[in-house]
Amino acid sequence: MPSKTAGRHNRTQQLQRQDATHHLHPFTDFQDYAANPGRIISRAEGVYIEDSDGNRILDGMSGLWCCNLGYTQPEIVEAVRQQLATLPFYNNFFQCANEPSVTLAARLAELAPDNFNRVFFTNSGSEANDTNLRLVRRYWDLLERPEKRIILSRTNAYHGSTIAAASLGGFDFVHRQFETLPYVHHIAQPYWFKDGGELSPEEFGLSTAQDLERTIDELGEDNIAAFIAEPIQGAGGVIVPPESYWPEMRRILAERDILFISDEVICGFGRTGQLFGCQSYGTAPDLITFAKAVTNGFQPLGGVLLGDRIANVLTSGGGEFGHGFTYSGHPAACAAALATLSIIQRENLIERVAADIGPYLQQRWRELAEHPIVGETRGKGMVAALELVRNKQTRERLEDGGKAGAVCRQSCIESGLVMRAVGDAMIIAPPLVCSHEEIDLLIERATHALDLTAHHYRL
Ligand code: PMP
Repeated sequence: MPSKTAGRHNRTQQLQRQDATHHLHPFTDFQDYAANPGRIISRAEGVYIEDSDGNRILDGMSGLWCCNLGYTQPEIVEAVRQQLATLPFYNNFFQCANEPSVTLAARLAELAPDNFNRVFFTNSGSEANDTNLRLVRRYWDLLERPEKRIILSRTNAYHGSTIAAASLGGFDFVHRQFETLPYVHHIAQPYWFKDGGELSPEEFGLSTAQDLERTIDELGEDNIAAFIAEPIQGAGGVIVPPESYWPEMRRILAERDILFISDEVICGFGRTGQLFGCQSYGTAPDLITFAKAVTNGFQPLGGVLLGDRIANVLTSGGGEFGHGFTYSGHPAACAAALATLSIIQRENLIERVAADIGPYLQQRWRELAEHPIVGETRGKGMVAALELVRNKQTRERLEDGGKAGAVCRQSCIESGLVMRAVGDAMIIAPPLVCSHEEIDLLIERATHALDLTAHHYRL
């Protein structure tokens, strides 16, 4: 081994040892991690990450669905640097405001759908969804409707990891690890490939949506405060709902006096070809959760956009809203967001997703459906998934227990591509700035990874 490579490798091993000994990672089996040390990511450029051994990997996940503009964005870096040099911190409590948070609030109000004119800042999507629960409760209390307490969410949803956000989420294995909030109730998800059975996608989309109607009737509209949903469930496996689903959901929500929270932490800021996923699907939320791509992932920032219906009640008396975070509207995070939004607008990135790179990705991704171990491909804009199977007709899996995804994920890394596995679904959310050539390379590497996976199962 040449000495530079050997030196790097020693450094990697040292970091891996420290990592395994001292660092507990999110959503990780600690014992398993200690036995199988992780990859140390050291640098990134464009749409590539590079590990501490110098391997360059095409990042098909935009970090964690957040680096939508890729990793090389000097304008955001400079905006943060300048802000840290001018006003590195000041809070928004006690009759004060910092300038970037004010400017960002106004900019978001200008960009968001017409009836959204106020924003509450947090540091993450989880905190934003906690904030939603506080806002919803406050709203109904101020209207003297204290019986409206139940929050509806969906099985296999992901809304974050605080107690409230994880209660909203629909992962059973997570719920078994703490006491969930008793007033959260889960309804069905529109996952046709898994649950659709003999129904056509359109029939299944309708009947799944009607689970909302049935549940409202069962629990009583007067007891239900809000319904929360991602336009496309991301962490649950990129569940792109059948075309019939959201129109029917919209009909039901319009007929009932229930607030609707659109969790746009993944779909927001262009991923589906509109600013927000709710605009792609024509739904009419009262609250919008955002985070991640608002700063291109360069600074932690989340928040809630409030529709006028709620904002008007909350700003018309009732006293102090007892909620907020030290870093609500942190100036450096808001400066990063302002720079990010400027790039998105100047480069017409959302239009590019809708008219060019989104359709190109989807066209190329659909070709993977021809692969012998792919049971379905699905996607929208710059997000997509495929299902790994042994038998396309019966949807029989390669292996029990959703383990084939982990095999395929490893094959992806060996092929120079980050794809994420959710059980037997392989998912991607590449940067919106990918070129056609980078999408071609992604498909080439994904195909190679599928070949390796098939080979692993001796197919
Ligand atoms: N909502 C959705 C839809 C998400 O995908 C996530 C994170 N992946 C969150 C909320 C939580 O965001 P955070 O990790 O920033 O708390």
